[in-house]
Order: sequence, then structure tokens, then C-alpha cells
Amino acid sequence: MRIAVGGFLHESHSFAPHPTTYRDFVEPGGFPPLCHGAGLIDSLRHASVPAAGAISAVEAERATIVPLAWGFANPAAPVQDEAFERIAALICALLSMALDDGPLDGVYLDLHGAAMVDSFPGAEGELLRRVRAVIGATLPLAISLDPHANLTEAMVNLTDVVVPFRTYPHVDMKDAGARAAQLLFDRIRRGQPWEKALRQLDFWIPLGAQCTLMPPMESVMTERAAIAERSGIAELAFCFGFPYADFPGCGPALAVYADTRSKADEVADEFLSLVNLREHEFTQELFSSSAAVAEAKRLTATTKGPIIIADTQDNPGGGGHGDTTELLSELVRQQARGALVCLINDQQSAAACHAAGEGAIVSLTLGGKSDRLPYQCSARVERLTDGHFMLTGPMRAGNPGNLGPSALIDIDGVKVIVVTRKMQALDQAIIRHVGIDPASCPILVLKSSVHFRADFGPIAGRVIVAVAPGPVVADPATLNFQHVRADIRRRPAGKSKG
Ligand SMILES: [Zn+2]
Repeated sequence: MRIAVGGFLHESHSFAPHPTTYRDFVEPGGFPPLCHGAGLIDSLRHASVPAAGAISAVEAERATIVPLAWGFANPAAPVQDEAFERIAALICALLSMALDDGPLDGVYLDLHGAAMVDSFPGAEGELLRRVRAVIGATLPLAISLDPHANLTEAMVNLTDVVVPFRTYPHVDMKDAGARAAQLLFDRIRRGQPWEKALRQLDFWIPLGAQCTLMPPMESVMTERAAIAERSGIAELAFCFGFPYADFPGCGPALAVYADTRSKADEVADEFLSLVNLREHEFTQELFSSSAAVAEAKRLTATTKGPIIIADTQDNPGGGGHGDTTELLSELVRQQARGALVCLINDQQSAAACHAAGEGAIVSLTLGGKSDRLPYQCSARVERLTDGHFMLTGPMRAGNPGNLGPSALIDIDGVKVIVVTRKMQALDQAIIRHVGIDPASCPILVLKSSVHFRADFGPIAGRVIVAVAPGPVVADPATLNFQHVRADIRRRPAGKSKG
């Protein structure tokens, strides 16, 4: 059998400060760079990406992999047309050439599911439409998705099956890719598509409340698995949604694949009502920056392990620029000595540190490029690095980290990692690469919403979620959406703002 493998991954935030360019796919921090053709398999095989799981599953079936193109860019504002057109053109051209060499048996695509392109708000739908135009309406096509996908009718209609990861933090990316590939083989062998049922929820789930390590999502996902098992369906795909995408498809949704339409509908409705019953539970306790630092300082006296302050709203993994400074300023103001901020994304300040050299005192206008609220300070340059290291945490072990020229600086006893290329603070290796053991820090400020819990959870004394400046707002209902469904509840019912 010949199975084509490709991918296009982006999580687009309509209100984020920076657009996503072609270069962002060529040089993504923490993921393999854009690849295509013969180099794709080697580039992805050992990476923590869904396609790696799919590649293993296709090889286990002794099928031949036909490499297309695969590209990931870090979350930011929507993808520029040029980037999408070039990557979509690569995927479609390689599919076309593959068909010249002989028939394909199936196609697997590694998609995120929350990509927007300037000209195509439902980017995956547009990409799948073009792929179908090349391969025809009936060739089996399976995709894996990030559970932050805003799953649309187009995505479900144009594919045979979608398989999202089950976890947030995402520690099962390869499993989802492998499962999508296995279902692709099931689909090929059965000779006909499954019946499908799609349901879109009537409310958004805030990012912080989507964490599958905590209630209610933890038990929702346990129930998901139990229902899928008990009912004998092929797949119950639950996508939590990415509530920062200003288009009508924004929101959580689920899709069920079964032998009969009635079975698919029955299971979809059963799971939908189960999630709806928990609507009021999708909440999160939040602290202001000053209260978060005060509480962290109080806790350090009695708690073993670092107190982690999640700077959720400036999460580079959700579209933040990773450079707002309110929590840093609070740490210095409240004299939280020994605390570490991971990280501030500021090319100019990193360059200034490199120009000054280790041991130098530099005057910086640090961060704040995205919100024009930089932090003026005098800092000591403690360590300089080229920003290259290998990730080691459960989400992305084996992926290359590339923060660009980076520096560890000290401001009145508060340490800050200053980088040139943004990355979510989800892996302890980011901190170790500047020579610090994260477990030794009394307070860690991490620019992350939920993913940090996978690698930092085991060492954390306590976690506090702070509301500091940044576009990944804890309450998306406060953003000025223009194009979402008029009838959707932008925050779960049963709770007030926040
Ligand atoms: Zn995600």
C-alpha cells in the first residue's frame, strides 16, 4: 500500500499582536522546521509530533510512505496568505506527483485544526478542499488534530475520520497520529466510509479550564473513553476549541464515526449532554499580578518546591508574544529574591546583553514590545547562550529548542531569561539551558497556560494562575469578536465574569 503523509499546523489567535509568516514555518522554535519530500520522514520520525506516530503506524503495516510537506509555526495571529499558499501548493504538488507514480491507497494529514489564513478563516477546510480536488472525493483521508481545534463541518465532511489528542497538556500527540493512521487502514480495508455525526457545543470552554489533569475535563475525558469503548464505535473525537478565533466555526465540537448513522447520532448526543451538564464547572481561580506575587511569597515560607505563577495571558503557545512585564515588575517591587521569569521574548534586549558580555551591567528597555509597556531596568548579564538545546519534558522530548541568542540576567535578585525567539515555557530544559535547576527556584513565573503542568507539575509546590497583560485572555468573552456564531455563549453559564 502507498500512504501519503503531510501536515500543516498552526493555532491562530485573531487578536494576537504578530502575524504568522512563511519564515515562522521555516524556523519554528521547539518543533522541526518546514520539510518536504525525501527529508520529511527523517526530520519527523524522532520528533514529538503526531506525524511521528503516524509514520511508525504506517511502517508497522509495511506500507510505503509517500512524503508530502509538513510545517508547523508557533501560535500567533493568522497565517499570511503567502505562507499558506506556498505550503498548500507543496502538499498538493507532491500529491499530484505521487499520483503520477501510481495509485495511492490513503492520505494522512497532521493538522492542528485552529488555523486561520488571512483569506481563509477556516484554513483546514480550505486545505482539505484543495487536497480533495487533487485526490478525488473517495480516496480514504484521515487527519489527526490538536484538541484546541475548532472542528468545522468542512473538516468533517472532507475527511474520513478525525482523531484529536485526548490530553491537555498534550502528552499523547504521537498516539493520536498513530491512531489516525490505524483508522486510515481500517477505513481502507472496510472499503466504505463510516457514518458520521457532528455536534457543536453552545458555549466556549476557557483555555485554563480545558486542562485534562483537573476536574471537570479529567472526568469528561474518562467518560469519553468509556463511552467510545462501550458503544463499539470507530472514534469519538472531542475538540475543546480555541476561543480566540474570530470566525463562525469557533468553539468546542465533537464528531462520532460509526457503522450506522443512528449509532453515530446516539453516541454524539449522549456525550454532548454529558459535557453540557458540566458547563458551570469549567472555571478557574485567577489572581491579579500583585496578589499572585504576594501569595507566592507567602507560600514559599511553608511549601516545598517552587511556587509556580502561570502568566497565562501572555502564553506564547496561545498567541502571546511572550514579552509582557507586569509580573516581572511585581517580583522586583515585592523583592521576591531568587524568583525566575521564564521568559521575556525581546530580540533587542538579548542582543544588548550579547554585545555587553557576561558579567556586564546593562541598561535595558526590557520586553513590552507587544503592548508598549516595557520594563526599564539595569541588569547584570549572568549567562549568554545561543538558545539551542534539546527539550526533555513529557510533551516534546527529543524536539530541538531554538530560542535564538539568549541571556540570563539578574535585576535586584530576580532572574529573567531573555530570548530572541518565543516559545511557551513548557519544558524545564529551557531553564536548565541557562545553567539553573528550576527545582531550586523559590518562585517560577512561566509564560504558559496549561502545558507547563506536564513537566513542571511534578516539581511544583503550588500553582497560581495570574492575570497579567497579554492577548490570551482568561475570559475570551472580553474580546471584540465580529464573526463568531451569534448564539454561542462566550463564557460558560453559571458563573460571572472571570
Ligand atoms: Zn493545543
